[in-house]
Amino acid sequence: MSVEKTLALIKPDAVERGLQGEIIGRILKKGFRILAMKQLLLTRHQAEAFYREHEARPFFSPLCEYMTSGPIIAFALEKENGIADWRELMGATNPADAAEGTIRKDLAVDIEKNSVHGSDSPESAHREVPFFFNRLEY
Ligand code: UDP
Ligand code: MG
Repeated sequence: MSVEKTLALIKPDAVERGLQGEIIGRILKKGFRILAMKQLLLTRHQAEAFYREHEARPFFSPLCEYMTSGPIIAFALEKENGIADWRELMGATNPADAAEGTIRKDLAVDIEKNSVHGSDSPESAHREVPFFFNRLEY
């Protein structure tokens, strides 16, 4: 295992419900270092670029609509085995399938409004962290 950087997002449904503190608390308690953090509102163009791997999927357009519906918070996180550990803390994409004690099980609304994002591989992390942060920020 090695120290890895990964991208985390708190999505609009969670920001809107005031769950920022709850989620940041779980991130810190799990042992992540927050290298960088910012709140922003994505444009449609930015949301489409970020989720371009899903552009052929039926949920792509509503997903981009939702991700631009309100502010999000982006984090560059760092931890030993950080990519997999953040995915584990998030839980499965569909909160109905997520394990007990995960963020999505405890806090998410549904399969779309699932409260958090995390890079799913080293390749994704290498693309996604610089999508939100420049090299001086992390
Ligand atoms: N999503 C959706 N419907 C689906 C699958 C995914 O609305 O059937 C949304 C959901 O917000 C999810 C995002 O699209 O988090 C990206 O999907 P992915 O399969 O990459 O899930 P994740 O990596 O976020 O668990
Ligand atoms: Mg994904």
